[in-house]
Amino acid sequence: MNFDMTKTSPTQDTSLRLKGKADFASQLVQWQRKSGRHDLPWQKVLAPYRVWVSEIMLQQTQVVTVISYFERFMNRFPNVQTLANAHLDEVLGLWSGLGYYSRARNLHSCAKKVLEFHGGEFPKDFDTLQTLPGIGPSTAAAIASICFKERVPILDGNVKRVLCRLKGFDADLSIAKNHKELWEVALQELPTAKADMPTYTQGIMDLGATVCTPKNPKCSECPVRKICDANSKGNPLSYPVKSKRIKRTSESLWMVCIENTKNEIFLEQRSAKGIWAGLYCFPTFSNEELCDQFINAMGAKNVHFVPVITHALTHKELSLHVVKLSGFSKQKVDKFFSNTLQNVGHWMSQEQWSGAGVPAPIRKVLIATAAH
Ligand code: SF4
Repeated sequence: MNFDMTKTSPTQDTSLRLKGKADFASQLVQWQRKSGRHDLPWQKVLAPYRVWVSEIMLQQTQVVTVISYFERFMNRFPNVQTLANAHLDEVLGLWSGLGYYSRARNLHSCAKKVLEFHGGEFPKDFDTLQTLPGIGPSTAAAIASICFKERVPILDGNVKRVLCRLKGFDADLSIAKNHKELWEVALQELPTAKADMPTYTQGIMDLGATVCTPKNPKCSECPVRKICDANSKGNPLSYPVKSKRIKRTSESLWMVCIENTKNEIFLEQRSAKGIWAGLYCFPTFSNEELCDQFINAMGAKNVHFVPVITHALTHKELSLHVVKLSGFSKQKVDKFFSNTLQNVGHWMSQEQWSGAGVPAPIRKVLIATAAH
């Protein structure tokens, strides 16, 4: 999260915050109990570990996608100890397809810190939680409010939208000072009773996800419609205001998917920095000429051109030109790579690459061309 929050405990100075704030919080809490979501897998047991993993997965990813990933993750890593003791490759493998892999790397390194510095127990307060890798203010607030009833507000995308519409908050959120101001608004809307915090936090997330949606808010079904500024003005779609949009550059990459006579694929582990850091990928070239030279040098005969794949990253639109080369003997390829490039490749069977950390578009190519 990029909003700047003070390290002062938000439970201080409550008199200012509690004034006239009961309406929104109490209506939201009542609505959540009756109509909110209660069956999400991470709600079955409200443990910090589970809330944390779900919150990290839910950043940038829809609930419907996260559910199966969360369940697989919990089956393999049921607690922070098993996650901390796992190899990063295995964590990336289970994350494969969710994207934004820095989340998985941070998850792994955070688990190690929890084990090393906190005796395997998550810290119980908002400020200490934020000292852990990958835990920003909103994630810290989710854990602290849901698991420990601390009066701190989350401020993820859904919540920002609800609050901006509710309060008619029309300042540009791409400006840091306005973002901080919205956080103050979020703080003021919290319920007075600590006991209501888990339900309130879940309620505001549920409202944003199911009622106060980005394109078609269901204002007529909304529990807070009578006190909502945007609803009274009839302009919910004007919020939130964000003038700066992410500018995406475009980049083309040329890749070779090399298959040996045992149907194993040659995959290289990418370096720890840059896109898809630490994941397994096809040998990659920055331009077509280099890729052609490689194919010629390999003496490839069985060549299959995969249709161009476009893949959007946060700041980049990638065009991937993949060529599949098959029928090679393992020895020939290994000899070639040891003579030419730094050999960081591994031969992987279908079973192995299925469980490895492989970027989503590469996985799609592997699946689509497995029969070729
Ligand atoms: Fe959102 Fe409409 Fe509810 Fe206001 S009334 S919070 S705009 S759904």
